[in-house]
Amino acid sequence: MPIQILSDNTVAQIAAGEVVERPASVVKELIENALDAGAKNIHVTIEEGGRKLIRISDDGSGILSAEVALAFTQHATSKIQSVDDLLTLHTLGFRGEALSTIAAVSRTNVTTRHRKEDLGTQMRIEGGDIAQHQPAGAPAGTVISIENLFYNTPARLKFLKKVATEKRHITTLITRYAMAYPDVRFTLEHDGREAFRSNGTGALGDVLVKAVGLENFRQMLEVERDEPPRENLPGLRVFGYVSLPDFSRSDRTNIALFVNGRWIQDSSLTYAVVQAYHMILTDGRYPVATLMLELSPQEVDVNVHPTKAEVRFQNPNAVFSALQRAVREVLVKSAGPGSARYAPTKDVDWGGMSFPQRSSTQTEFTVPEQVEQRARPSNTESFNTADDDDPTAIPVGPGMPLKPRTLPMLRVVGQVGAMYIIAEGPAGMYLIDQHAAHDRIIYEKLKEAFDGDETLPQREIKMCTLELTSKEARQFDQLITSFAQVGFTLERFGPNTYAVRAMPELLPGNNPLPVLKAILMDLLNQKNDQNTLERIIQHVSSHAAVKAGQVLAQDEMQSLIRQLERCEEPRSDPRGKPTLLHMSGDQIARELGH
Ligand code: ADP
Ligand code: MG
Repeated sequence: MPIQILSDNTVAQIAAGEVVERPASVVKELIENALDAGAKNIHVTIEEGGRKLIRISDDGSGILSAEVALAFTQHATSKIQSVDDLLTLHTLGFRGEALSTIAAVSRTNVTTRHRKEDLGTQMRIEGGDIAQHQPAGAPAGTVISIENLFYNTPARLKFLKKVATEKRHITTLITRYAMAYPDVRFTLEHDGREAFRSNGTGALGDVLVKAVGLENFRQMLEVERDEPPRENLPGLRVFGYVSLPDFSRSDRTNIALFVNGRWIQDSSLTYAVVQAYHMILTDGRYPVATLMLELSPQEVDVNVHPTKAEVRFQNPNAVFSALQRAVREVLVKSAGPGSARYAPTKDVDWGGMSFPQRSSTQTEFTVPEQVEQRARPSNTESFNTADDDDPTAIPVGPGMPLKPRTLPMLRVVGQVGAMYIIAEGPAGMYLIDQHAAHDRIIYEKLKEAFDGDETLPQREIKMCTLELTSKEARQFDQLITSFAQVGFTLERFGPNTYAVRAMPELLPGNNPLPVLKAILMDLLNQKNDQNTLERIIQHVSSHAAVKAGQVLAQDEMQSLIRQLERCEEPRSDPRGKPTLLHMSGDQIARELGH
């Protein structure tokens, strides 16, 4: 056969092998298009597992009559213009190949009317060729029917599984989209019978009730965790539901993961969820979970595979541990405060994964006061740095000798605005600034370590360099010993350049440059002659402290308050700003006119 260029249709039919493997893949592409078009109601009709008919109607934007034919040509998309747009992608589609490929391997019928137009369009495509194209009256939105899928690609048709299998795939798929888009109302009809319906209330829980049944849903816990930005991951939100140990399955297929509204398949992240149940579920049992990850589109590459079900993360390890932490946190919490039931034991093998060992914070606040006093440890190590990998973990000092109480014993009620902790004590209500309070705690521990002539723990880091102006460098030279005292290892590396090889272990992340620069700027602008070392300590404690905007778990808040209760000056931060507001019971009663 002479060499020849394949026709567009043949190319599309070959490509169909990648994009549309089975009826469920067609459903997936069409649903994504409806969602991208802003639909709030999506109705899916299936006959014979999708072989005979797949029809999707939506009330989205519709397609402009001048663009209908174009939408069905290869590489036609309204969603991106260049590869750069992928970095800020907010739509599910972008490859511009679904409609053309699907139409190449089926008999496709589309009726659509754009919101801004009075008249719609009806078009029929047979095996990729337009057979009919005419104006038509239609409600705003789009109805696409795919008949006789793969009729012209017998090889693919042969590989289709049983109708029941295809039905199951489609139902799973629709359920997953309903979970990812709880504000969209989905209905699925198989051979004239309703197979699934969501009611578009916007609550993921409502969708789950439909998907797993109310009884099972009662056996699920809500996950909600904002992972604060850290150096290698600029913030991540994890939310959804995971099952309690009594509600489990024999395989992992009920662990559904979504990234920015996109259902993904990722065996590593699935493993993160399974691992969070270590010691909670018996071997061979797997949880039911629906978990949403939200992170900046820059952090995820969705253009890995034509089905877009695989994604690549910039920082897979950070995502892995964030997900695992979020799940583990609710499981541990559900066992009740201080319960050791699900608490990781020291010898748990986390398989090299970074899950923080929070057992000290978990048990801390259940130990009654007297016992705590008696069990006073002899070890006087001044502070125990939190898990390196986890800036949210509040450093606790299990080995610290107990200092006298300076605040009454407080009970944490909750967190407000991810900034303040509300606590209750014998004398009324306390509103505690989480950052200021933690700053105070760390500052006192650092000071204490200094007074006791202890060297502060350091963490070796990959060498990085600090470039300064010659004026800054002159100043910096005088500070090197003070920096060394708090745990920075610095060397001159060039005329105005310094190499940083280690940083205080207390500081989160692995990038010492921002804090070094902040300290330097502060000292350069300093008018008064306050002790330099003191200023450096203040900076380090402020950088190490939990930030405003960071959601804290109950046990983290309680641990923080416990430590604040024994600070020398619990009511102000190192710079003198108040850490807390106190309202006595009388004051509250007065204000409320009792
Ligand atoms: P992609 O979704 O990757 O852009 P498709 O081939 O799936 O590529 O769709 C091509 C184009 O057709 C889309 O970019 C969109 O403009 C339009 N389109 C497809 N389906 C719909 C729909 N249900 N509602 C409105 N517009 C649609
Ligand atoms: Mg698409």
